[in-house]
Amino acid sequence: MNSIYRNIQEFQYLMPTRIIFKADAISELQSLSVSLGTKPFIVTGKQSSKKNGALNKVVKTFPNAVVFDSVEENPTDETCNKAGQICKDNQCDWVIGIGGGSPLDVSKVVAGLATNEGVCEQYFGRDLFKYTPLPILAIPTTSGTGSEVTPYAVITSTKNNTKQTVADYKLFPKIALLDPLLTITLPHQITLSTALDALSQSMEGLVSKKANPISDCLAIESCRLIFHWLPKILANPDCIEGRYWLLYASLLSGIVIAHTGTTLVHALGYFYTLNYNVPHGIANALFLIPMFKRNILFLPEKLKIIVNLLQEEYDKDNLDISIKKALLRFFKEINFLYTAHSWGVSDKQLHTFAEQLYSDSYRFRNQYGDFSVKDLSLIFKETFEL
Ligand code: NAP
Repeated sequence: MNSIYRNIQEFQYLMPTRIIFKADAISELQSLSVSLGTKPFIVTGKQSSKKNGALNKVVKTFPNAVVFDSVEENPTDETCNKAGQICKDNQCDWVIGIGGGSPLDVSKVVAGLATNEGVCEQYFGRDLFKYTPLPILAIPTTSGTGSEVTPYAVITSTKNNTKQTVADYKLFPKIALLDPLLTITLPHQITLSTALDALSQSMEGLVSKKANPISDCLAIESCRLIFHWLPKILANPDCIEGRYWLLYASLLSGIVIAHTGTTLVHALGYFYTLNYNVPHGIANALFLIPMFKRNILFLPEKLKIIVNLLQEEYDKDNLDISIKKALLRFFKEINFLYTAHSWGVSDKQLHTFAEQLYSDSYRFRNQYGDFSVKDLSLIFKETFEL
């Protein structure tokens, strides 16, 4: 067995979602047999699914659908509760999520609330839904979260302004319908930030304590595709082939984190998103170099794979320099501003963030290594000094 897998004694692999990946699938909902009930509840964002025609096509196919179209970015528990109530009041028997990770995540919580008592906040945690949620059809329109194939919903708690996760194996969508044409309308900045989210997920999945040989294959392929295609798409947004592969890479990143969870990169990134509105994917990307330098200590073989994918020479005695050089070159190629101050983050609260994160170490339970408040503070500081 390859030395990378020396610590893996056993693992399980589960992907219960039927995946339909097809250009213009949104126009063929009827023939693709995606109906999961008699009256759907559609959950979507405020604008994009109207602009790109996705919502219209779905409503045309299911004319009795009830539409909830006010999901915001980083959606709150209040939004989930409101949508859940409307779904219940209208006795809808299945849910369609259309949009980025935000509407898809709300669609999952709505599906759970529709068949269970109580409100969203009660379900922050793992496997808390007693009754089977309504079946979900997930239609992603960003290439970033892979939420269409994960059992997670990431929701902002209005009580304490933190991001909480509703995690439940019953929340895997029944069907994920991926239509690369829907992602062509993504503006430059959202293409960049969502792709960097998928990249973080795949890179983190590779070094997670829960990584397994299958998730590693998917993570490596996802990283390879993003490194190859993202620069091309940013230069030419109408590149259909690139949009196709980026959506596929995002799908793989979702399957990866469904098994591995995320690591310290995501736990750190949340602070910049919640306190400075830094887009989720950008916030994660700011921590990739500081964290992957450290991951070398635990998983050098895997770090070599990333350096190789980025076609950087690696110096076996100074792998930390190689990974930094490789990622910096990629960041420059995609014109990503890789320091925190470029995104409006102030360095005034970094120690407080470190203390808060340290007291909530469950958030990075899949991360190898021990991290003190001082270590975490140093990592935050490094995002200003690259
Ligand atoms: P998002 O918050 O869903 O959407 C970001 C922006 O992109 C919105 O303004 C949205 O507009 C717009 N947009 C979406 N699709 C578009 C399209 N095709 N063309 C033009 N604009 C489009 O972004 P996201 O990055 O996909 O999702 C982030 C959320 O997912 C975060 O809350 C994160 O924590 C969560 N997440 C969940 C998982 C999971 O497994 N469940 C994994 C990773 C991240 P509209 O609002 O008008 O639609």
